Amino acid sequence: MRHAVLALLFATSLSAADAPQPVTVIRAARLIDGRGGAVVAPALVVVRGNKIESVGGVVPAGAQVIDLGDVTLLPGLIDAHTHVLLQGDITAEDYDNQLFRESLPYRALRATKALKIALDHGFTTIRDVETEGAMYTDVDLKKAVNNGIIVGPRMVVSTRAMSVTGGYGPSGYSPEVTYPKGVQIVDGVENARKAVREQIANGADWIKVYADRSYFVAKDGSLSSIPTFTLDEMKAIVDEAHRLRHKVAAHAMARPGIENALVAGVDSIEHGVAIPDDLIDMMVAKGTYLCPTLTVTEYVAPGRAAAGAPIWVKMLDYHRDSFRRALRKGVKIALGTDAGGFAWDALNEAKEFAYYTRFGMTPMQAILSGTRVAAEMLDMGDRIGTVEPGKLADLVAVPGDPLADITAMEKVSFVMKDGQVVRR
Ligand SMILES: [Zn+2]
Repeated sequence: MRHAVLALLFATSLSAADAPQPVTVIRAARLIDGRGGAVVAPALVVVRGNKIESVGGVVPAGAQVIDLGDVTLLPGLIDAHTHVLLQGDITAEDYDNQLFRESLPYRALRATKALKIALDHGFTTIRDVETEGAMYTDVDLKKAVNNGIIVGPRMVVSTRAMSVTGGYGPSGYSPEVTYPKGVQIVDGVENARKAVREQIANGADWIKVYADRSYFVAKDGSLSSIPTFTLDEMKAIVDEAHRLRHKVAAHAMARPGIENALVAGVDSIEHGVAIPDDLIDMMVAKGTYLCPTLTVTEYVAPGRAAAGAPIWVKMLDYHRDSFRRALRKGVKIALGTDAGGFAWDALNEAKEFAYYTRFGMTPMQAILSGTRVAAEMLDMGDRIGTVEPGKLADLVAVPGDPLADITAMEKVSFVMKDGQVVRR
């Protein structure tokens, strides 16, 4: 009986391995493989099934050859901060309308368009950092992508996110009215642990917390904020998530939030609009990633200032300065844009690459930030982030040479995800 079972298993694995897998060869003028070395020119990548078989070498017999011409091939791009269930959020009214007037099925349908846009822009993997009141819809979107029901990037999801009573919108309505919140409201250490367990049980890959809110300029001219969780609550969230082998991303804009999040041991700081130097040192020492989202700040600041929040004009300067200092001190920076915080069809989120170079990165550093570094943050560096044999065949092409003109990253002309050509 034992032998029969073993023989059956052996036969099954043999037949799966023997099934012929399509072989595709992609030729291009150049390849930036995401490892940080010299540009390879010309480039030839052999893809068998959903994996990269070799880089360079000869064209295997019977392979389909795709010659892309004067383009640069790159690893599939990674946006480590998106909200596919949000469609722009310049004012509170924009936000509340989505939560109050749109059903979850309608929001899910709109999200399918966001996913298509992200993939067309070359982002073959995204970390979606909370559903903004759409509960666990991101888990279903991820499932639909993985099952081939809809087209979209590989998703890493964080479900509902967490903040405290009074810490997150919608707000300003009568206390007699009940309405959906944009996050799971969590108060107290025990509830924090329970919320982490609940979200992970329902499919969260990452835990997302809001560490601060209500930004203001302190007397010394620095950006400050009101922290949401107490340090004890934050520590409980991080400890429980890590105990269950999941990572934590913290929205944290200024010292009160960033310090709590870092001391508690979060894995990434989101936005980091004004990170004081001593906390940048702490990020370097702890290996905490920064996910800057410069695109959203540059995009929403004018609108939010015009809507009566003048601090957003200053936010631009704080954010640019914080990014420059974090970069100079060697913080690991994983590209993230906050797409959804601006309407998905309003601009190409790959503008983030150009912002990184404008504020201090080399074009190569910016590309690595949106490929290998982001993959490492997601603990997916063994599968994605570089073009190397054995990795998943996620490849994009941009016209010309992005090292000479980084805005080429906004003109993706070819996308392969998991060995499938999804845009050409
Ligand atoms: Zn966000």
